[in-house]
Amino acid sequence: MLVLILTAALVFVSLATTAELPPNELGRIMILEYHKIDYPEDRWTRTPENFRRDLDTLYARGYRLVSLGDLLDGRLAVPAGTTPVVLTFDDSSPGQFRYLEQNGTLEIDPKSAVGILEAFLRERPDFGRGATFFVLPAADPPNRLFNQPAHAGKKLQYLVSRGYEIGNHTLWHANLGKYDEATVRAQIAGAQQWIQRHVPDYRPRTLALPHGVYPKDVSWALRGSAKGVTYSHDAILMVAGGAAPSPFSRAFDPVRLPRIQAVEAELSSWLRYFERHPHERFASDGDPDVITVAAGSRDKVRSDLRNVRVAGRP
Ligand SMILES: [Zn+2]
Repeated sequence: MLVLILTAALVFVSLATTAELPPNELGRIMILEYHKIDYPEDRWTRTPENFRRDLDTLYARGYRLVSLGDLLDGRLAVPAGTTPVVLTFDDSSPGQFRYLEQNGTLEIDPKSAVGILEAFLRERPDFGRGATFFVLPAADPPNRLFNQPAHAGKKLQYLVSRGYEIGNHTLWHANLGKYDEATVRAQIAGAQQWIQRHVPDYRPRTLALPHGVYPKDVSWALRGSAKGVTYSHDAILMVAGGAAPSPFSRAFDPVRLPRIQAVEAELSSWLRYFERHPHERFASDGDPDVITVAAGSRDKVRSDLRNVRVAGRP
């Protein structure tokens, strides 16, 4: 049961450590969008060292990983005073997930995004776990399923087994605004078919729009069938738009989920923004079954959340 607690007041002061943030579960959440993890740092490239530094910074500032699925389900089990953050990786470029052959055995490249994440999570298991990989199963190399054809299936299976998610990004990054309904549906169903060829029965829950472009009718992207494959998405992600509204907020729209491009300028600007405006940042109350919001914010909570109880501050 979801219980709503109205806090008596939120104290809007600059806090030395974010662990002291008072609960505010109508605050905004960053969905970070990475492209290449490689050299050199560029508009669409984060170096392995900078990606690792991003994880350090997020952890130190009280952000904790949740999966996109948990965000959509409103299942935000992070410690009190911390803020959920979601990682997404688009376009399945080689630096996101690379195997190296060492003495006849395959090891995950510690400089690929998955290697960096796994190492970080071993050091900081309380950071949480999760990331969504929006892959391209039929793109030209090097963007076809991380560019090691012999290991494509093993990689997708590994991701799912480790609690990561695979998302739909169409077969080959098609601009969905350009095509008729049959082509849009074939692109989406075809991508899912490829993913399921490697991970049977896996259902991608989300679609990231190539180039951020919606099809003429958004319903084509949400659910349907083509090529004998049925798809159904719980959310559609854009390529920009800033921090997302709380999933408990009336402003939350899973069909138009905004993201923050995780490049130096944009990421640091958002981190600074939340340091200056801590009351806009989602801060957990530590109890996934209870929604704690600031006084006067009750009317901003989504109306479809049933069994909501209004209570005083615990
Ligand atoms: Zn893309």
